Amino acid sequence: MDQQYQPEKIETQLQQQWEASQHFHVTEETNKEKFYCLSMFPYPSGALHMGHVRNYTIGDVISRYQRMLGKNVLQPIGWDAFGLPAENAAIKHHVPPAKWTEDNIHYMRTQFKRLGFSYDWTREITTCQPAYYRWEQWLFIKLFEKKLVYKKNAIVNWDPVDQTVLANEQVVDGRGWRSGAIVERREIPQWFIKITAYAEELLNELDNLPGWPEQVKTMQRNWIGRSEGALIYFAIENNLENTKEKLSVFTTRADTLFGVTYLAIAPQHPLAIKAAKNNPEIAKFIADCKQIPTAEAAIATAEKRGIATPYFATHPLTGEKLPIWIANFVLMEYGAGAVMSVPAHDERDHAFAKQYHLLIKPVIKPINNTPWDYDAAAFTEDGILIQSGEFSDNLSADARQKIIALIQKKKLGERQIHYRLRDWGVSRQRYWGTPIPMINCAHCGTVPVPEKDLPVVLPTDVIFTGATSPLKTLPEFYQTTCPACGKIAERETDTFDTFIESSWYYARYACPDQNKKMLDDRANYWTPVDQYIGGIEHAVLHLLYARFFHKLMRDVGLVKSNEPFKNLLTQGMVLKDGSKMSKSKGNTVDPQPLIEKYGADTVRLFIMFAAPPDQGLEWSDAGVDGAHRFLKKLWVFCATPPSPSPSLSSLLAPDIARRRLHEILDQINFDYARQQFNTVISGAMKLFNLIQECDKTISQEGLSILLRVLFPVTPHICATLWQALEFGQAGQTIEIEKAPWPVVDKTALKTTTQQFVVQINGKMRGQITAINNATEENLRELIYAEPSLAKFLAGKTLRKMIVVPNKLVNLVLGE
Ligand SMILES: [Zn+2]
Repeated sequence: MDQQYQPEKIETQLQQQWEASQHFHVTEETNKEKFYCLSMFPYPSGALHMGHVRNYTIGDVISRYQRMLGKNVLQPIGWDAFGLPAENAAIKHHVPPAKWTEDNIHYMRTQFKRLGFSYDWTREITTCQPAYYRWEQWLFIKLFEKKLVYKKNAIVNWDPVDQTVLANEQVVDGRGWRSGAIVERREIPQWFIKITAYAEELLNELDNLPGWPEQVKTMQRNWIGRSEGALIYFAIENNLENTKEKLSVFTTRADTLFGVTYLAIAPQHPLAIKAAKNNPEIAKFIADCKQIPTAEAAIATAEKRGIATPYFATHPLTGEKLPIWIANFVLMEYGAGAVMSVPAHDERDHAFAKQYHLLIKPVIKPINNTPWDYDAAAFTEDGILIQSGEFSDNLSADARQKIIALIQKKKLGERQIHYRLRDWGVSRQRYWGTPIPMINCAHCGTVPVPEKDLPVVLPTDVIFTGATSPLKTLPEFYQTTCPACGKIAERETDTFDTFIESSWYYARYACPDQNKKMLDDRANYWTPVDQYIGGIEHAVLHLLYARFFHKLMRDVGLVKSNEPFKNLLTQGMVLKDGSKMSKSKGNTVDPQPLIEKYGADTVRLFIMFAAPPDQGLEWSDAGVDGAHRFLKKLWVFCATPPSPSPSLSSLLAPDIARRRLHEILDQINFDYARQQFNTVISGAMKLFNLIQECDKTISQEGLSILLRVLFPVTPHICATLWQALEFGQAGQTIEIEKAPWPVVDKTALKTTTQQFVVQINGKMRGQITAINNATEENLRELIYAEPSLAKFLAGKTLRKMIVVPNKLVNLVLGE
């Protein structure tokens, strides 16, 4: 064995062996417990960054640990290969998105291999390949047949110069990222999947996920946003046209109904459009509203503006006349585009009322009679009703129920459960994505592509000029015939939201070679994923869509379980100087030179040692250096033959050394089980210090434990040393990963001595320390030899001795 630690040599040697033997390939073994460990797959952006290294190292440590526990472990990897950056790169570097993506995958794959991750490479998935995306086209058609997908008009960001739709991230300060033109809101037909049909289940099943962080579950609950309330109808007064129309508004605060002083509607509301017809001022206001980008955040932060319509509504209980306003902050997509405004009890309504001099009417007073000036600020909490007719003096909670009951009885509204969750808009007016498998026929309407004609393949040899999706300019793509009537028709040129690809990949890893159907029975063997690992930024969208897709696949008979991910670990960010590493801040650390300089094991060790996996990790060059020094010392210790005559006096007593050894192992095993890997490593470092202070037998036992517990983190050095030192059973060198996980020797943990309190004639006089299982004879000798007790014993006769094991010795003395 080399005297010097040469990480690159030992690491690449092992990695070549793993590659040649498909070392981490697994199949469905029924005699072993399965364990499916998955780190969220990467977008092939170009090269791995430190956040990636952390994410995938955590996954690899868990996989290797579970394998050593004797489980049948699947750890796959693949590429979330569709998305906008490939289009941007195509425009910038004049290279087709497919080529750019392929090159990046090639490079990142070599990086993964160089880090020694134990992936089953036979299952590699690349989502931009037709063999993958054809199945989501197939499922989409199934959902179309089940009426779970539909098409409706929805608002997009429209760049009037480039004549194209922009993604939210392509709108910078309200302008198109390339053209600089002020972005408009435009309505175009788009495809939606009915996630709202599963809202209740998506919410309730969160209670059955004890292995998920509370924080993530709370974020999902808030996103789904279930609220109980009422839909209340307000009749519209329109004497001119003499029509009977009504506005329906949803509210969770029926107790404030008597405080409604105006109604606000969205600029796209049909009533607003009607009002604009003969009123140029209103028409201009509506046109101006179109220039706010569609992102919810942009709408929330935009200045609140409004304009009065000539219409009034009638209050359902008091009959009061209420003005109807158009307001830029009311969204058509929420609550049918109309809200009842209670300025005394809602902050936004209050600000709007002050701005436009609208009436503010208080109808709830604070329970503790705190003075409150309703003209200065809204009181938004529950309280006691005032100025509310027969409901005055009721508590808010009671009044809500009573008022809803009354309007329900009078048919002026109905009790309703409302979700914040909207249906999932899956149309993207982009090129680099899965083509939506639909055909638009002038005679038949929208017709799905027949199953036998799938996949609809995305052309990859395209010229990218920048603005519009090339699909819209490629007749050979969009010209087709209608499957229903055979006449000339056009394909859908929109592509799927890329969240679709990442919503089911975890299941496809179970059967990536299946070309007859989306999933087969192997998916039921491997799913749900036992351990899923990824960033907290995916807490809502990706994790919610994947949970939804699992249920959709269950309901077309593809999987049997209800949820895709049993346990979830959300890893913290990698920070430098206290802030997130990012290209824009210029504080990134490239992992590649570090791997080349120190080796994969050092990088893995540092990243797992620096912080618990769910916490932020502060980058430290000194820390990397320290990790490397530790591995070097370990190597040199193993490579150096023990000195022939160690000075015995410097060694720890064997029983104490063994006890210490197994105490440390006990803690390491505990920390592995709770996934606190940083303290696993500090435990391993303690073990190494201890080994250097022990005699040969215990040192060998300690080293064999150390190599095994460190193996999941630094597999290359541990496997190499294990083999070189010929550890293994009955003198046979077996691979370290097939060696049994070290078990704590409970007998070594038992303390070897015991403390006894000594009482003389019922009074406590002192203490003695005895060996385990000391006899009465031993104890008596110890007591009589103890100098501090001599004065109590002198000249007395021992009449009786009572021993309480492990606790107390009572001597009865006489004259
Ligand atoms: Zn047709």
